Amino acid sequence: MSTVQVEVQGLSKNFFDQSRGEVNAVQQVDFECRRGEILGLLGANGAGKTTTLRMISTVLQPTSGTARVLGHDVASEPVEVRRNLGFYSASTALYPRLTARETLTLFARVNKYPAERTKSRVEEMIERFGLGEYAGVRIEKLSSGMKQKVSIARTVVHDPPVLIFDEPTVGLDVLNALDLQKAIQELREDGKAILFSTHIMSEAERLCDRIAIIDKGRLRACADLEGLRAATSRHYLEDIFVHYVTSHETPDQD
Ligand code: ATP
Repeated sequence: MSTVQVEVQGLSKNFFDQSRGEVNAVQQVDFECRRGEILGLLGANGAGKTTTLRMISTVLQPTSGTARVLGHDVASEPVEVRRNLGFYSASTALYPRLTARETLTLFARVNKYPAERTKSRVEEMIERFGLGEYAGVRIEKLSSGMKQKVSIARTVVHDPPVLIFDEPTVGLDVLNALDLQKAIQELREDGKAILFSTHIMSEAERLCDRIAIIDKGRLRACADLEGLRAATSRHYLEDIFVHYVTSHETPDQD
């Protein structure tokens, strides 16, 4: 059985913007992500990371190209794709008046987790993410660290094989960011295929098995750190990133 869980081929997205005209947000991007792998999408603000991840998660329709999650096409099988995927971003809102337990139960149901197993799965998540004594408290009364744990538990409660973390550490303090990274590493150990976007070099370096460098909507490189070092003769990811971004500064791509 193939271990490739996410396959992206020639994926492109154009927007029309009143002031900027046609925006080529994502252009001909190809990559894949396997079981037990964290693939980092590394790019500056506006590089096209979120647009790419939104297409994979079926929130946006590609202009052209394909993305498949466990072989299911995002355009023709969006329900199957969503069932197999959990999406986390720093801006994902929780319902403030629900408790953590109610939140997890709701998201298990919405994502079609088997009804007869939902109760035990929710309790397992409460245990795993250390939500125990807070599980019956309304979200609005929780600290931001606790809300973050509920958000991760909410993302994985239906046990999807593919997880997307879109700039998840934005706005978190160092300790909460490290906690989140630890949780993501544990999910990799569970065999999840994980797409992780960031513009923070140290985070990509520490966490990702392979790194896809995205700039102005285009994939400039995709390899593990050793491969990127060998290809550029540079050691630090920051220098590698600058190499790929500046070597493509041509007027037609601005
Ligand atoms: P950030 O880290 O700032 O979120 P990003 O790498 O996630 O950046 P995207 O949000 O994917 O980048 O944006 C890629 C490009 O597409 C940017 O130029 C952005 O302004 C543009 N864009 C995104 N959404 C729209 C939209 N709905 N309409 C017009 N342009 C858009």
